[in-house]
Amino acid sequence: MPFVSVSKLADADFPTRWGHFRILGFEGVVENPQACNEDLPAPARRIETAVALVMGDIYSAPPIVRIHSQCLTGDVFHSLRCDCRQQLELALATIADAGAGILLYENQEGRGIGLMAKLQAYELQDQGMDTIEANLELGYAADCRHFELPGEILKLLKVPAVRLITNNPEKVAALEAAGIEVVERISALVPESDENAFYLETKREKMGHLVR
Ligand SMILES: [Zn+2]
Repeated sequence: MPFVSVSKLADADFPTRWGHFRILGFEGVVENPQACNEDLPAPARRIETAVALVMGDIYSAPPIVRIHSQCLTGDVFHSLRCDCRQQLELALATIADAGAGILLYENQEGRGIGLMAKLQAYELQDQGMDTIEANLELGYAADCRHFELPGEILKLLKVPAVRLITNNPEKVAALEAAGIEVVERISALVPESDENAFYLETKREKMGHLVR
């Protein structure tokens, strides 16, 4: 793994409108990380953080798990440019219905490029580029995420197998590479709208996201 350390920094009570969770904070330290932007120097070390919302008994059977990447515009402002907020709500509702599960919320705004670059990418998309072309135009990789921290967190939590809510085969592969068994994939498809149709099409056509 690229992390020299992964540790739990906090564990607190967390009531929400979806039900009662624990909220856990995790930090992973990466030495000599790969640069994600060819125009910017890579830092000598990078600290990656993630939050885990944990509900109910996650040990007697493989729990439902969602790996969600932070999306300020979708999660907080209910943006219709992407499907993040709908996927977050779907995941929390699915976990709440089951009475158990884990939502891993990764601090990786804009597929890891950061909030300001993501807004610049939106500006380029307004001029006709798709989400990948815009990232490349700004010097970034199409996707700067590696999904390695979630697997390490599940190992720290001693969860060896999960039922993963996702349409992204890379998330399944990343967990399995970390030694976490994905016993079931649960679809994260959300309704398409006029505003997010092009974005969803790009995820399917260019990023290999599954259609059901
Ligand atoms: Zn989003």
